[in-house]
Amino acid sequence: KPIRIGIVGVGKIVRDQHLPALAGNADFELVCAASRNATVDGIANFPTIETMLAAVKDLDAVSLCMPPQYRYDAARKALEAGKHVFMEKPPGATVREVEDLRDLAAAKRLSLFASWHSRYAPAVEAARKFLAATRIKSAAIVWKEDVRRWHPNQDWIWQAGGLGVFDPGINALSIATHILPAMYVTEAALDFPANKDAPVAARIAFRSAEGTPVTMDLDWLQTGPQSWDILADTEAGKMLLSSGGAKLSIDGKLVHEAPEREYPALYERFAEIVRAGRSDVDLAPLRIG
Ligand code: NAP
Repeated sequence: KPIRIGIVGVGKIVRDQHLPALAGNADFELVCAASRNATVDGIANFPTIETMLAAVKDLDAVSLCMPPQYRYDAARKALEAGKHVFMEKPPGATVREVEDLRDLAAAKRLSLFASWHSRYAPAVEAARKFLAATRIKSAAIVWKEDVRRWHPNQDWIWQAGGLGVFDPGINALSIATHILPAMYVTEAALDFPANKDAPVAARIAFRSAEGTPVTMDLDWLQTGPQSWDILADTEAGKMLLSSGGAKLSIDGKLVHEAPEREYPALYERFAEIVRAGRSDVDLAPLRIG
């Protein structure tokens, strides 16, 4: 029986990724949407999550795609109403609020999924296996993109809790916390524009328990070619995981590249945990960021 799902916060990522991924997955039936200013054709539409939950009685799950500052209240309402919850990244504005949702989901025996789409990029598992089999001498995360090109008119991203350049940066951290040893921050410098509450650039130094140095360079004002790279100098060669996790090269030789299918994979994972009665809430990227 398909999982009957409703989608909340119909904006860029819903149209770019969630709707096509759901349409291609027989485990789900998209039955409704809640959004203040947008609708999805062919299904029941509501202005708020409250009206949607009250009207659609046989709903099994919701997918929360609004900005992170507004996710907690919506997730709580959905869990209180007995629905499984898929959360876009980042799962919230703070670690503690997501821990609270995780505990509520466990108490209610519902599945909560803190999705990290970049972890499902095609070459990430190959990079993880390569690094697990060698010793890492140092690593560098370089995530530089043009905010005007990727986030036009998104005011929330510059407000407190919107994370600023850490909105893309947390994608890098979701990969780094999956493929690199556990690490902690030793230094950080964040650049805030005078009229914004969130940073536009950041330079961070980390150290692993074994002393491996890792640097992270985030910049939202890069025009021209965009950089979404993780580099590692290892005893087995120089690794470059590039294009946001899509391509893996060792010593300049491309060793892994496959078609991108991050969101189809996310919904496959959500169906799997709902069917298994489990949650998947890894807070490592948010905790470190
Ligand atoms: P968006 O288009 O600006 O926002 C999504 C929708 O959320 C808006 O269209 C709006 O719909 C609703 N919303 C905005 N403010 C709200 C509020 N105060 N309360 C309730 N709903 C509100 O942003 P997006 O690019 O889709 O990003 C949404 C999430 O997806 C973010 O967490 C982002 O990190 C993640 N994400 C984005 C991308 C991307 O490429 N853009 C990629 C991966 C993940 P209504 O006004 O109709 O309610």
